Order: sequence, then C-alpha cells, then structure tokens
Amino acid sequence: MKAHSRTTRLAEWDRTYLWHPFTQMQEWEREDPVIIERGRGPYLIDTLGRKYLDGVSSLWVNLHGHRHPRLDRAIRNQLRKIAHSTLLGLSNPPAIQLARALIGVAPPGLTRVFYSDDGSTAVEVALKMAVQYWQQRIPPAGHKQTFVHLGLAYHGDTVGAMSVGSMELFQKRFDGLRFPTIAADPPYCYRCPLGLTYPACRMACLDPIERVLKERHQEIAGLIIEPLVQAAAGMITAPPGYLTRIRELCNKYQVLLIADEVATGFGRTGRMFACDHEGVTPDLMAISKGLTGGYLPLAATLTTEEIYRAFLGDHAEWKTFFHGHSYTGNPLGCAVALANLEVFRKERTLTRMRGCLKALNRLLRPLSTLAHVGEIRQRGYMVGLELVKDRGSREPYPITDRVGHRVAMEARQRGLLIRPLGNVLVLMPPLVTKVNELTRMVSILHESVLTVTEA
Ligand SMILES: *Cc1c(COP(=O)(O)O)cnc(C)c1O
Repeated sequence: MKAHSRTTRLAEWDRTYLWHPFTQMQEWEREDPVIIERGRGPYLIDTLGRKYLDGVSSLWVNLHGHRHPRLDRAIRNQLRKIAHSTLLGLSNPPAIQLARALIGVAPPGLTRVFYSDDGSTAVEVALKMAVQYWQQRIPPAGHKQTFVHLGLAYHGDTVGAMSVGSMELFQKRFDGLRFPTIAADPPYCYRCPLGLTYPACRMACLDPIERVLKERHQEIAGLIIEPLVQAAAGMITAPPGYLTRIRELCNKYQVLLIADEVATGFGRTGRMFACDHEGVTPDLMAISKGLTGGYLPLAATLTTEEIYRAFLGDHAEWKTFFHGHSYTGNPLGCAVALANLEVFRKERTLTRMRGCLKALNRLLRPLSTLAHVGEIRQRGYMVGLELVKDRGSREPYPITDRVGHRVAMEARQRGLLIRPLGNVLVLMPPLVTKVNELTRMVSILHESVLTVTEA
C-alpha cells in the first residue's frame, strides 16, 4: 500500500515538474510512468517492486550490469578523497591514470585523450580539433572547414553534432542553426539507396563519396562516421571492408577520419572498439556511452600525436585549443571509468561474451521468419529488428502506426524494457547478460512482435 501511494505521488510530481527527453509530454502526462528505483546485473526494479530486464542497457550505456561491486567500490573510494576538481591548470590522479589506460586499449596510433562530458561534446571537440588542426599544421590548410557525413547519421543533439547528423525528424526545425556539410548515402543494404545488392554491388555506394572527396577535399576537414553500426538510424550495419575503404579514401584525399564510437565503443560490437574489427585507426575518436560502464556521464576525444603537435607553440601564437567544460576530467567519473576497464581485464568480458554472441545470433534466427520482420541486423550486442508492413515489397509501417512503440509496451508488460527507433526494435543488452537472460529477452521480444503484428 505504502509503495503504491508513494509511487502515485512520485508520478504526480513527475508529471508536474519534469520534462523528459525525446518525449511527447502530452502523451506522457496521460500515462503511468515506470519509476526505476534500483537495479542489479541486467535487471531494473521499479518503485512498485516490479522487475524488468534492461534490454537497452539503460540507453546503451551499461556494460557490466547495475551495481557491479568493483564499480560501486571505485566511486566510494574516490569519494573518500575528492569528488571534483578541475583540469584547467590542475590535474588529478584518476584523469591521468584513465588517459593512460585508454591509450592502452585504443586503436594503435591514438596517443592523446581530451575529456568532456557526453557523446555530443566529444563529437563537438573532434570537429573543432579538426578545423583548428588544418589551420595550424605545416603547411597550413585553413580552407578545410567542412565535413562529410553519412545519411541517417546521428552524432548527438548539440548544434555542431546536429550539423553533421542526418536525422531529419530530430533536426529539421533547427536547419537555420546548422552549418553546411556534405551528406553521402549510408550503407543501408536492406534499403540500398542505389537499388543494388551486396556483395555484387562491390560497395558502389563508396563511389559518390570518393567523387566528393576528390572534387572538394580542399574544403573538407574531416569525414565523420559511426564505424560498423549506424546505431540511432536503426542499427544499420555496414558491410565488412566498408570502414577500411573509408580509411583509404581519407588517406588518399587528406581528410581526417573521425570515428564516433560513442555507441559502438567498449565491447558493444564484440571487440573493444568497432574500428578494431578492421584494424582501422581513425585520426580522432569520440567515446562516451560505455566509458564509465554506464555509471556517470563522461566522454573523451582521442587523437594522434600528429594532430596534438599542431597545437603546440609559444603562448602568444594562440595555437591553444580553447575548449573545456566545468566538469572536464571529473575524478569520480574517471575513477569509475578506470574500474570499468579493470573489469574488462579481470572478468575477461570480451572473451566470455563470445559464446553468448553466438547464442544470441541463434536465438534471433526464428524471429527472422516472422511475417512482419523485414531484417534482423546484429553486430555483437547491438541488435536491430526492422519491422515491415509487407515483407515482399519491404513496405515500411507508416510511422504514425507506432508499431515499434506498441511492441515495446507489450514487452514491458512481460518484463522487458526496450526503446525502439521508429519501426526498428532495438535490443542492446548489457555485456554481462547471460544466455538464459538473453533467451528470456528474445522470447519476450518474439511474443510481443507476434501480439502486435499478427493479432
Ligand atoms: C548517443 C550518441 C551520441 C550522443 O551522445 P550523448 O551522450 O547522448 O550526447 C553521439 N554519437 C553516437 C553514435 C551516439 O550513439
């Protein structure tokens, strides 16, 4: 009874005082919110004591489960020393140690770590570093000021990150604020923009990218990409070799490669970073979501010694990178991020995942035969299930049908929390999720899809 009245009161306050992200609040105000109070491993528990599987890793951030003893302890230990001090003119042990540890696991050739707070700011930093780099390198190439990005790209919600994004729905209203960029077709094989089929296409979608780089490299500072998986677009997976070709093109036309590993980083694809699958080293790499194991907001932009060195000079040359945030290098965040990397080592997370990955692939297979499942895309623990009105013609459900949302609501009733991307159902379990829990997640997904699409 007490839990009920407390939940009712919290729900009332939520509707009165909160404004939720990516949420139509008019609709929200009519619903009863699930109010998560605690968690353990891959489970979330609400204020009424109801238990749910965390099917999207609390929005793609959690890796080793909730309340991991080592991560909890890292924060408690750091709290005994200090919660925050600045990196502007000072340093702190967790920020130093984490930078070293990150360089230890990053693709070879990345040697420097610049901290910020979230995925969007890590992307903003990469864009600004790229533009300033070209002005200061020898010989200077200050005319290189614009960026190439893929269609359907998502790099965050701040204005710069939005400028290199292509999510119509999120950014149309802000077109006046966005700086001009160059968009290229994404490798969306299920709905190929060129109407071709892989592998017979031989990745013809790269030809227009090469053309634009060839013609306009004088004005292009960098090409930004979500390596291997365009996550927010609906888990669109690039064919093998695509990233390698992009790296080659960037080398050929002297354009910096910016890898946005915010979603794909930290084991999500089965390797530490998506770039590792193809042995690619980007010139700049943005990381955030999994960096602290899903505990605290923290981000970083990694870069090469070559780029770093272009910012060195006498004080009055003003080659300084004038960028930073109030919480840059926050010791609490860095301490838990350091512990996150320790867990990868101590629990051999990536090795242990391998068996589970195969199992997940096997578990998903029966869903691909359902009448309204167009395609299932999987890279490691990133899964997108594209629902279609008609399998033969691949006709999408009208977005107003909210079929993804309806499936998510069904899944919630059955104890699985997921958040769809339009008509694409997303399953992104914490890396710690075991085969029996994966089995449960997929079976709930299966039932929920059937209930909504074949009822
Ligand atoms: C989530 C995401 C971002 C933005 O990160 P925030 O922490 O939400 O600002 C940027 N890029 C990619 C690929 C993402 O998935």
